[in-house]
Amino acid sequence: MKVLISVDMEGISGVVHSSQASPGARDYEWARTMMAGDANAAVQGALDGGATEVVVADAHDGMRNIRLNELHPAASLVSGGGRPLSMVHGMDESFDAVFFVGYHTMPGHPEGIMNHAYISKGLQNVWLNERLVGEIGIFAGVAGTFGVPVAFVTGDAATCAEAEDWLPAVATVAVKQGITRFSAQCLGQAEAHRRITAGAAQALRNLSRVQPLKPDTPATFQVELTGSQCADYAARVPGSRRVDNRTVACTADDYLDSFRALRLMFELAAGAVDTAY
Ligand SMILES: [Zn+2]
Repeated sequence: MKVLISVDMEGISGVVHSSQASPGARDYEWARTMMAGDANAAVQGALDGGATEVVVADAHDGMRNIRLNELHPAASLVSGGGRPLSMVHGMDESFDAVFFVGYHTMPGHPEGIMNHAYISKGLQNVWLNERLVGEIGIFAGVAGTFGVPVAFVTGDAATCAEAEDWLPAVATVAVKQGITRFSAQCLGQAEAHRRITAGAAQALRNLSRVQPLKPDTPATFQVELTGSQCADYAARVPGSRRVDNRTVACTADDYLDSFRALRLMFELAAGAVDTAY
């Protein structure tokens, strides 16, 4: 049984603020060790649940956070950014399940720690086929195109609720309860790891209960940006259309093509963000 574990940082045990989650920031070196800790707890759970091969995909910021020497020796590591499948790169039809560890809510949830989707500057909302969506839904859809279900998700409590909303029967472990966007009550690290390992193992034992997410096609991603100039740039994606002053949408027959268009819209919009306006 092959398991891919995609690991973000905003939903990691103890992490609540950008001063921890941004490379170069004051507490970043601490946070990347915490990230490896939650990842390793999930790797151990996957092994306990019957996995014979585990691939960890570093999925935060430049995707170079987890140090290989801190990773569980049974896992291999997909490290480094610019990857075609981004947060779930390494995924293909040979996998049996994917885990999302340390994930976060879609933009705007008041108890979602560092809530956002892809970019934190310049973006208000993202919709997939007219439903508000965050990274959980976006990447569950990518895995679903390969026939691979999301079996297990960790993060704050609001993230777990979002996962259960998108993915019926998914197993979740909340390692913290958000208070505001940048504050939370966090489980102790040992207890968080115990719950992640047990939850991951149980998720694989119950794998037959979960189904791959297969978004309807043609698939439409729509992005609402904070500035009209961001929408000007996002609308340069071939086939996109301006929905209103700050909103751009793009439709493709194939989900992976619509995902590629979404990334292009994000990347162009992010380049147009002005720090003063
Ligand atoms: Zn992240």
